[in-house]
Amino acid sequence: MFRAELDPLKPYVPPKTWRMAAEGKDEDRYAKLTSNELAFGPLPEAEAAVCEVLSRLNRYPDSHVSRLRQVVAEANPGSAPSNVLVGNGSSEVLFNVLQLFPAGEVVFPWPSFSLYPAMCAILGMKARQVPLRSSGDLDTEALLAAVTSETRAVILCNPNNPSGTYLTLEQVREFAGALPDNVALLLDEAYVEFIDDPSYRGSHALAFEFDNVLVARTFSKAHGLAGLRVGYGIASGGIADYAERVRFPVSVNLAGQVAATASMLAREKVAERARFVIGERARLQRSFGEAGLEYIPSQGNFIMVGFTAPDFERSGVLVREGEALGYPGWSRVTVGNRGENDRVAAAVSGRTEAVS
Ligand SMILES: *Cc1c(COP(=O)(O)O)cnc(C)c1O
Repeated sequence: MFRAELDPLKPYVPPKTWRMAAEGKDEDRYAKLTSNELAFGPLPEAEAAVCEVLSRLNRYPDSHVSRLRQVVAEANPGSAPSNVLVGNGSSEVLFNVLQLFPAGEVVFPWPSFSLYPAMCAILGMKARQVPLRSSGDLDTEALLAAVTSETRAVILCNPNNPSGTYLTLEQVREFAGALPDNVALLLDEAYVEFIDDPSYRGSHALAFEFDNVLVARTFSKAHGLAGLRVGYGIASGGIADYAERVRFPVSVNLAGQVAATASMLAREKVAERARFVIGERARLQRSFGEAGLEYIPSQGNFIMVGFTAPDFERSGVLVREGEALGYPGWSRVTVGNRGENDRVAAAVSGRTEAVS
């Protein structure tokens, strides 16, 4: 009765912190660094915007999400609201765009975001996973070599989750230019705010240089709004038009629309928080180095490190188990607030008391 390609799909296994929260267990004694969330709550501007709409929750929101599209367009010079895609998280933006193509193959690096193979299975597309280089870097030559006449899209997660490695803007541009015109490039920039390479600026403009490029971003990470589920994309008018045809009519809820709009308008404060994360990321990487641990230098708000999740947990720090991400024996540690990061540094140096 069911489509055979769905058989390998399993329900998403959430990190331990989500399971603990669902079970109502006290988790305060742990630093929760599993999911690449921001350690801080939403900006006060976003919180105020949500409070302001609470009494209107009986009403449907603007199904076109016009105000948010306008603000996103203003924040990305050269784009018009008609170039902006919106969705219930950038997950929906990526999914909607993938739905636009005929059945075929989707190429992406691996390890990368677990949603990519899942989306391919749901849509009946064949996932072609191209290994990262041994350094963890994205292998653009191998990705290009994997493109065939059956390829409909390439997904590049930049910086890549979970490795934290990234391609420079020039490398991405070169890659986009080398792709055939009829193969879409889905550039997943969920962590773009944490890139500290000053030349990685204005990447959304790739969508105007190349008609086949979508740049997808999210309010779930640097904006600290993961709970509200809002993402956006920038693309040529063609992709944006078709993506809107398949989008569920009211996929972005009222609270999400107003909070994301307020947060985007206050983006200088978001950038300031991202700078804090970047500084803390450097501090954690130093502490890993001093502890003699292997780690992959990261451009995201997380670091892959050669230290096991149970070892972290004994020190009161919950991280994403590397096994689930293609790095057995390693962990992906989200950069937290100062106190949480102190605990991470203490854990790897063996300076902590065990948590009971
Ligand atoms: C977190 C993340 C997203 C964002 O997902 P949302 O649906 O916007 O919450 C997208 N891509 C990657 C690689 C991520 O890690």
